[in-house]
Amino acid sequence: MKKSSFTTAALAAVLVGTGLGATSGAVAQDRQFISIGTGGPTGVYFVVGNSVCRMVHKEAAEGRKKGRKHGIRCAAPSTGGSTYNIGQICQGELEFGVAQSDWQFHAVNGSSEKVTNCPGLRAVFSVHPEPFHLIAGDGTGINSFSDTKGKRMNIGNPGSGQRGTTEVLMEGYGMSADDFAVATELTSTEQSQALCDGKIDAYGYTVGVPNAGVAVATDGCGAYIVNLTGDVERKLVADNPFYAFATIPAGTYKTTGEDVTTFGVMATFVSHESVAEDVVYEVVRAVMENIDDFRSLHPAFANLDPAKMITNGLSAPLHPGAAKYYKEKGLM
Ligand code: GLU
Repeated sequence: MKKSSFTTAALAAVLVGTGLGATSGAVAQDRQFISIGTGGPTGVYFVVGNSVCRMVHKEAAEGRKKGRKHGIRCAAPSTGGSTYNIGQICQGELEFGVAQSDWQFHAVNGSSEKVTNCPGLRAVFSVHPEPFHLIAGDGTGINSFSDTKGKRMNIGNPGSGQRGTTEVLMEGYGMSADDFAVATELTSTEQSQALCDGKIDAYGYTVGVPNAGVAVATDGCGAYIVNLTGDVERKLVADNPFYAFATIPAGTYKTTGEDVTTFGVMATFVSHESVAEDVVYEVVRAVMENIDDFRSLHPAFANLDPAKMITNGLSAPLHPGAAKYYKEKGLM
C-alpha cells in the first residue's frame, strides 16, 4: 500500500521535474497534486480553498464510478494571505490561491511594490465580496480611520491582503506606522483575541461577511465596525476599478446595530499560466458543477452566481483552462 502510493508520488515528482508533468495526460489520469493557498484558519479564504478541494475530490470519486477520471488530489493549507499566495503562485510553489482583487490587479500590472510583479498570474473566478473592516475596541472612541492616530493598531501580518490594504489607507490619510502608539503585525487569527485582551485598540481586516474571527471581537467583547466613507475612501473608490463601496448589514454581529458602509474588494481565485490547462479545467468544472454545494458551505458564498464569478473583480487574463469550461457552458 505504502509502496504503491510512494511510487505514484515519486513518478509524479520525476515527471514534474522533467517538465513532463504539467501537460502529461497520463499523470492527470493517475495522480496530480495541487495546492491552494488560503489565509488564516479562522478566515473565509480557508473555507474557499477547502471547499474547492472537497468538490474536486467529490468529482474524482464520482468520475471513478463513471469512468471519467481526473486523478487530482488537492490540499488547501492555511497561509499568510493574498500577497503571500500570489508570490508563491508566481514561483511555482502553489498552483492556485485566493487573493484580493486589488492585489490581483497590482500583481499582473506591476503597479505596486506591495505584491510580487507576476505577469503570468491568471484569473480563474471570483468568489465573495470582502469589505475592508476597521474594527475598534469598546470604549476606544474610534469613529474614523484618522482616529486610530496615537492608538495601538494591528496592521496585519506581512503577506496578508489586509496588511497591504491597510497601508494603502494609511497612505491616503498621510499616515505611517509611526502615527500609531504601537503598530502590531498579528495574524487574522490572533487579532480579535488581542483586542478583547486589551493589547490593541483596533485592527484592519479585509474579509467576507460574516466571519467567525470578527465575531470573536464584536460578539465577544463589544468591538464595533467603523464606517469608512470620507474623502479618502471616496477617492480610492473613484480612482481604482478594484474598489467599490460595500455594506455590512445591520444585525450581522451583536454590535452592528445599523448598516456599516465601507469600501471593499472581491476575493478571487487565481492560478498561473504555467499550470496545465486540463488541471485548471477540472478544478473549475468541479466548482461549477457543484455550485449549489459551494453556496451552502459558508454564508458568504450564498449569492455566488457563475455569470458574475467569471467577470467581477478579475483583472488578470482568464486561464485558458477556465475559459474552455466557461465557453463550453455558454457562460462566455
Ligand atoms: N483578505 C485576507 C487576505 O488577503 C484574507 C481573508 C480571509 O482569510 O478570508 O489576506
